[in-house]
This record gives sequence, structure tokens and C-alpha cells, in this order.
Amino acid sequence: MRIEPPLKIDKYGTIISKGPELKLTNDGELELFFLGVGSAFAQTKNQTNFLIIKGGKHILVDFGMTGPTALAQTAGLKPTDIEVILPTHSHADHVGGIECLALMNRYVGQRFMHKPKLKMIISEDYQRVLWTHTLQGGLEWNEKDMNTAQKLSFSDFFDVIRPTWKSFSPRETFEVNHGDIHIELFRTNHIPEQSSTWEASFISYGMLIDNKIFISGDIKFDQELIRSYTGRVADAEVLFHDVQFFPGAVHAPLEELKTLPDDIKKKMYLMHYADNYKEQDISDFAGWAEQGVRYIFD
Ligand SMILES: [Zn+2]
Repeated sequence: MRIEPPLKIDKYGTIISKGPELKLTNDGELELFFLGVGSAFAQTKNQTNFLIIKGGKHILVDFGMTGPTALAQTAGLKPTDIEVILPTHSHADHVGGIECLALMNRYVGQRFMHKPKLKMIISEDYQRVLWTHTLQGGLEWNEKDMNTAQKLSFSDFFDVIRPTWKSFSPRETFEVNHGDIHIELFRTNHIPEQSSTWEASFISYGMLIDNKIFISGDIKFDQELIRSYTGRVADAEVLFHDVQFFPGAVHAPLEELKTLPDDIKKKMYLMHYADNYKEQDISDFAGWAEQGVRYIFD
């Protein structure tokens, strides 16, 4: 893996001189670019949302409240540049910007820029939850037509790329290909604090990209999951893991992540972190995930 900054950025990951925008295509290598690496409440970092880029294809994973501004500041891109979105779960730091993405695509991108309809990678169950409980309120009224009461639905805004359910997996798992990008989505145990299994939790996904990059998604400490993707199910080269700096609650406490074997910690970058991250000792780990840089996997 190599790390390349595409833009001149300051310590907060914000562009300080106008350079070339991030390209949503490359020569075919797998590339990750974080628009943000902060927690839901971080003030100095954008929320943890990222782009996967490979060849001519890209996927935006999550788009929170900071998403639209982060897209411009860290990547030099506009919402109408995005063609595919994959939401992992319904907290606002992961889906709060999707209404903006959908409206900009429908009323600007498609009407004036010849852009294709936005695509969404989403399971059937989660599609129902995301539309009914989050997106419907802001999207169902047709902004174009004052004369009819016709309401819009999910399919008016998004073409679905449906992941395939993987049977015989120990937890609910789906697979999907977009171009040459392969993603395995697995359920995580994130909310509520009291739930001890992924089955008892609300829908939330982590993923394995191209069989080598593990992304925890929002998750409590789940040693069994980490070990399965660093040995039994796959052998991830690099892990990007959610972290919090206190015990309990709904993310993975740093003190619990520290109990992992050294060989796993050495290839684990921590993400979704709070503003006081500099006070933490993470010398056992690969480091903090950085926003505004290109992680390129040859
Ligand atoms: Zn969350």
C-alpha cells in the first residue's frame, strides 16, 4: 500500500491551495480516499465517509451531514460527480448527506448535466428501513410538478444494485461487484449498547473490499469478526477500524482493541475518532486513518 496526497491539505485535511480535484477513475488499482475520519460529533475532522475507486468505477461509502462540504474540501468534487452510494447504516453521520446527493442528482445532474440516475448498493431489508425512516420525509414530494399530488418513491431517485446473500456464512453476509470492485458486506453489532449479537442490533454493515481491505463499519469490539477476517474467512492485508476512547457504549473502545495480537494491530488503522485523538497512545497500531489522502493498493 502507498499513500499519496492528491491535493495540498492542512493538518485537518482541508485543501489550502487549489489543486487538481481527486479523480474518480484510475489505472485499475484499488484506491481508498476518506472524505472524513472523525466520529459523529468530531469538530476537527469530517465524519467517516470514504470513496472506493478502481479503474472507471467508484463507490461512495456513506455520506453524513459533513459529506457535501467534505466532498468539496478534501476532494474538490461536487455531489453531482457521485454515481454510486453504499450506505452502511442509518446514523446521520453516515446518511445525513444522502438527501442532498439525491436531490442534486435528480434536479441538476440528470436535468442539466446528462448524468445517470444515482445508483445505490443496498440490501432489500435495509432499503425499506432507510427509505421509510430517513429519506422519505425529505424526498417524497415531487419538486418539479406543483399540479399533481403524486409522491415519489425510492426508485424515482435510485437505481438499485442488489447485493447477493451469501448462504452458509456465520453472520448475515452479502456480496456485490461493481466493475472490478468486489465487496463483501457483513452485519455488525453497533446499536443498542445492550445488544450482544449482530442479530439483536439494528441494521449496520462493515465490509471486506477485494478480499484484502477490512472496514469495520460502526461496531462494538468484536474479536470473533476481526479474527475471522484475519485468518479463517479471509486474510485482510489492512484493516480500518472504528474506535472510541472510553469503555462501553456502541463503538470499539481503544483499550479493547489493544488486546488484539500485535500482528493484527500492526496492520490496523483507526478511524471514526474523536477530537482528543492526540492524547491517545496508539503506538501498537498502524496509525490514524487520514482524510484527504489516497490509499493505493497495488
Ligand atoms: Zn453509527
